[in-house]
Amino acid sequence: MSEIFDAVRAALPSLDEARQRKLCVFYEMLVDWNARMNLTAITDPAEVASKHFADSVLPESLLKKNARVIDVGTGAGFPGIPLAVARPDLSFTLMDALQKRVGFLEAACKELNLNIQCVHARAEEAGKSLSYRAGFDAALSRAVAPASVLTELTVPFLKEGGVSLMYKGPQAESELLSAKNALHLLRAEAELVKFDAAWGERRVIFVTKLAPTPENYPRASGVMKKKPL
Ligand code: SAM
Repeated sequence: MSEIFDAVRAALPSLDEARQRKLCVFYEMLVDWNARMNLTAITDPAEVASKHFADSVLPESLLKKNARVIDVGTGAGFPGIPLAVARPDLSFTLMDALQKRVGFLEAACKELNLNIQCVHARAEEAGKSLSYRAGFDAALSRAVAPASVLTELTVPFLKEGGVSLMYKGPQAESELLSAKNALHLLRAEAELVKFDAAWGERRVIFVTKLAPTPENYPRASGVMKKKPL
């Protein structure tokens, strides 16, 4: 435990000790469950602390106080779980298409005493459902799809004025250019926010929803693949 505690303390020095310890418990669960199912390729304590935990928390200043947030394609809970630990004012829904991963998320949230809704669904289907459509102040996504696809997957979840944060690396600029048509069709606009991180160049494509999403979006996944926006 002390190796991961030292790593979390070094990567996230501004978190109080109770929160740092929560992330250590999450680390232990992640590595334990990872032996039985594919959750992460990174297991070294220092790398998990920086590339998963601190990376998830990096753009937290872009999220308004008390926002209702959905993490789309959260996988093993990134960026949602570290952000939920760091920002208890936010209320989270974690969504993933893989049932096994949602089982891990439910167990992790229980262990960490986090009041989070974990949902097994595909975003393109949930984005049509009244339970989720236009219900969130912010959407998050990391390592899920190119920005053009993510625009169609995440913007329908947002209230008007809501924001979608797409976690990206140095390729963000070209992805943003390719997403121009999708942003127009989904009634949204975007800018790039840069972060300096010790583990690499990090960018967030910061999308703002300007008007209600037209009814025909998001399209079914087959159509999205055949006819990219
Ligand atoms: N966001 C996590 C991270 O940064 O570590 C996981 C990234 S993993 C490469 C991509 C995840 O997105 C997978 O768990 C996959 O099941 C999920 N995913 C992909 N397409 C999806 C969709 N249309 N709806 C919901 N989940 C999706």
